[in-house]
Amino acid sequence: MRDRVAAAALTAGRDPDSVRLLAVSKTWPAECVREAARAGQTAFGENYVQEGVAKIAALADLPLEWHFIGPLQSNKTRPVAAHFHWVHSIDRAKLAHRLSEQRDPHLPPLQVCIQVNVSGEATKSGVAPGEVAALAEAVAGLPRLRLRGLMCIPEPEQDTARLRARFAQLRELRDALNGRGFALDTLSMGMSHDLEAAIAEGATMVRVGTAIFGTRERA
Ligand SMILES: *Cc1c(COP(=O)(O)O)cnc(C)c1O
Repeated sequence: MRDRVAAAALTAGRDPDSVRLLAVSKTWPAECVREAARAGQTAFGENYVQEGVAKIAALADLPLEWHFIGPLQSNKTRPVAAHFHWVHSIDRAKLAHRLSEQRDPHLPPLQVCIQVNVSGEATKSGVAPGEVAALAEAVAGLPRLRLRGLMCIPEPEQDTARLRARFAQLRELRDALNGRGFALDTLSMGMSHDLEAAIAEGATMVRVGTAIFGTRERA
């Protein structure tokens, strides 16, 4: 998997070290994570609060970095603030406020990305592109969060040019924010089926499940 990410970076004329691999371990047992850690993987992504927290506890003996990447209900922020290092799916100010309030002051700030809906589908989560700047201002003002960048999950798209345009939109939004004084270093975009296109458009973190662990039996 590292080879595929590195090859995509080189094809795009980028330094392979500029793209981090996040291994998405949702639905896979802690032992699978332990095996991946033994092979050198350190950053893991989880979608479900209970499952993620249980795995973090089971693997507390390992120095792993845990990323919450799934939709997050406001009433489930507390365990996420307590146990995860990153949250990629901030899509409303209320969520950010709760996470900041609940983050233990003795822990490093929670690293967060704003999830943007780049496909314009009513069903998908993420803030509309036109509302990103206002949400970024709100998040940046919170003491226990550190805004690192933007995240997207585009609708599946057969046409490569159209897919790349979605990823390019996230990069342009990030660049526009940085032009307004933010210092966002993260573009969380690209999964098993579309990471080459995402890396070509500037992804700094790809979230890969199936291509590492195999096909999941449930979502
Ligand atoms: C499941 C999931 C992934 C990984 O998807 P694969 O297609 O298995 O690589 C990445 N990001 C998010 C938000 C996910 O929910």
